Amino acid sequence: MKIIVLVKQVPNTTEIKIDKEKGTLIRDGVESIINPDDLAGIEEALRLKEKTNGHITVISMGPKSAQGMLRDVYGLGVDKCVLVSDRVFSGSDTLATSTILAKAIQRYDYDLILAGRQAIDGDTAQVGPQVAEFLDVPQVTYVESIDELKLDSIVVTKQLENTNYMIECKLPCLLTMLQEANTPRYMNVEDVWESFDKEIEVLTNAELEVPVELIGLKGSPTRVKKTFTKPVVQKSQKLKLNNDEAANTIINALNPHL
Ligand code: FAD
Repeated sequence: MKIIVLVKQVPNTTEIKIDKEKGTLIRDGVESIINPDDLAGIEEALRLKEKTNGHITVISMGPKSAQGMLRDVYGLGVDKCVLVSDRVFSGSDTLATSTILAKAIQRYDYDLILAGRQAIDGDTAQVGPQVAEFLDVPQVTYVESIDELKLDSIVVTKQLENTNYMIECKLPCLLTMLQEANTPRYMNVEDVWESFDKEIEVLTNAELEVPVELIGLKGSPTRVKKTFTKPVVQKSQKLKLNNDEAANTIINALNPHL
């Protein structure tokens, strides 16, 4: 089985602070990590590879510095890493990003594409579904488990708020994985050693030839107008009550429908 996994390098948002004056994220000195949902995608791909003697290609779009992350991904046991990187891609919103990623994916054979449900920095959850639309393949989002692999289809469980759906989907398809789907494995020593000698294929727009009006700021219909921290509104009230009154007041405040 040929599997493509989309992986995004993200800043560790638990360490990010906001510049209150400018309303922007302070990224300096913040560690970069593999997006957590994408680690789940890699782990599922590795399990399917073991079952089917498959081949895994990881594709990431980002700056040249993302090569370090891709070396770590090699250390997990994937077969090929591709970095999609070009100055003309900067400023791309999710639509332009998905256009570029879909064009990159089209260069390879695939039976299955795995993406994370959501990136912890951009948080839109739009890229997976958009890539599936551009490639004209079926998609299942919010996948919490891959249950069965058949000859030309895959059975997965999709998580919704209060209900789970078991869905059979024709291959090739795209799944967006939830972090809770599995516990990612650690890198193994042999793969880490080999990772230093493995090639990371770099694709620029010279290879992809995406029309310039579809990428970067020009190809991005969305604009971030303002970034700001939501003000925390605190309401306080001082009451003088006996024990029973205090208990009832708290119960009513917690459940106003009583
Ligand atoms: P989601 O849709 O939440 O991610 C879902 C999944 O898609 C991920 O788990 C992963 O599997 C896959 N995925 C997402 N992004 C990638 C990727 N890059 N490579 C591989 N797989 C991926 N970002 C910049 O770095 N520089 C900019 O100049 C810039 N300008 C922007 C301008 C605008 C107007 C907007 C709206 C966004 C801009 N961005 C920029 C952010 C960039 O568009 C998003 O980071 C990107 O589209 C991914 O969106 P997301 O983080 O919401 O991913």
